[in-house]
Amino acid sequence: MSAPQWISVLGATGSIGLSTLDVVGRHPDRYRVFALSGFSRLAELEVLCLRHCPRFAVVHEADQARHLQGRLRAAGLDTGVLVGEAGLCEIGAHPEVDVVMAAIVGAAGLKPTLAAVRAGKRVLLANKEALVMSGALFMDAVRASGAVLLPIDSEHNAIFQCMPADYSRGLVNVGVRRILLTASGGPFRETPLDVLADVSPAQACAHPNWSMGRKISVDSASMMNKGLELIEACWLFDAPPSKVEVVIHPQSVIHSLVDYVDGSVLAQLGNPDMRTPIAHALAWPQRIDSGVSPLDLFTIARLDFCPPDEQRFPCLRLARQAAEAGGSVPAMLNAANEIAVAAFLDRRIRFTEIAVIIEEVLNREAHVPVESLDAVLAADQCARNAAQAWLQERGR
Ligand code: NAD
Ligand code: MG
Repeated sequence: MSAPQWISVLGATGSIGLSTLDVVGRHPDRYRVFALSGFSRLAELEVLCLRHCPRFAVVHEADQARHLQGRLRAAGLDTGVLVGEAGLCEIGAHPEVDVVMAAIVGAAGLKPTLAAVRAGKRVLLANKEALVMSGALFMDAVRASGAVLLPIDSEHNAIFQCMPADYSRGLVNVGVRRILLTASGGPFRETPLDVLADVSPAQACAHPNWSMGRKISVDSASMMNKGLELIEACWLFDAPPSKVEVVIHPQSVIHSLVDYVDGSVLAQLGNPDMRTPIAHALAWPQRIDSGVSPLDLFTIARLDFCPPDEQRFPCLRLARQAAEAGGSVPAMLNAANEIAVAAFLDRRIRFTEIAVIIEEVLNREAHVPVESLDAVLAADQCARNAAQAWLQERGR
């Protein structure tokens, strides 16, 4: 048995972070926790530190760090507590770290995830927003450092599992006709269109198949999540947007498919539990127990499919347009969406206004090429400002 691998979990207190620690905890001989980060749930972070005894923890502010440091010392732990983005980058790129789980939500994860990529780590990517924002720069950094990038998003993990090992030669060269990206359709797949304007954050966050953080739950309800995933798939598998087709599959049992020129279609199936892609990416190319129960096909009995309805889900159309436009547009789409979703969760706008805000920001602001991280961050800030201005103009 080889030496255990050291893992940093960025976003340890979130849904993906906790699922990661669940899988890691099942394999103490293989994995040791090097560092954990949290943002708001400090008490939960403390409990995780007591359980996993990391070398470092990272929090948002200096006051929080002093508080946590004191509590951990009193419990006999010598965990060092670091602060903010610099701390996150440090635990992502630390020379003693082998694996980094990138599970911070939103643009806040970009710099720490890139730091891990640039340091050549095995990077397990849940934080799709980081890749959507910085696309080419991110993938160039992976190639330059030799980082091993493994997708955690269940769909992309499924696609990865169904791809030939040499897919980096180009999809055409390995006989892939298209990628079929499955989507559950979320909680509003069949909600009458005239009711959508009045749905509440609680209804939007009640996903039929998956238990997730609030931002991605709203994204799933609007299908912006699938839109971000479309852009994510284009970068991960070097595919033009026209080669990625979205398929509504309400049961969330098939996690995505790859269609080959000979007529073969390969799919990956499993219960909707993120511990499966996490365990896959942790151990790849080996397989380890994830704690997920076996798939019972007789209980599932049927699998349904239909095309997405872009009138119901305008965010999907906007994301496809952003994928085709490239440059600063995906970063702006993501930033406007983050502001709009936060406003919806605060009950300042209606659910249907999320797409309205994003479309207006993309129509109003200039689209530019992005050749540096600064350009990406500037596009992000520009779209945030425009979305905030939209809210302020209407007193929201
Ligand atoms: P979550 O809200 O449950 O957790 C987010 C984590 O990020 C928390 O640990 C939080 O403390 C941290 N965080 C939030 N804001 C931060 C900030 N400004 N700075 C530093 N840390 C911050 O979210 P989640 O559902 O675990 O999702 C995490 C990422 O994984 C997202 O990008 C999401 O799209 C992706 N993802 C999640 C799922 C899922 O099933 N939950 C599936 C696929 C992909
Ligand atoms: Mg997904």
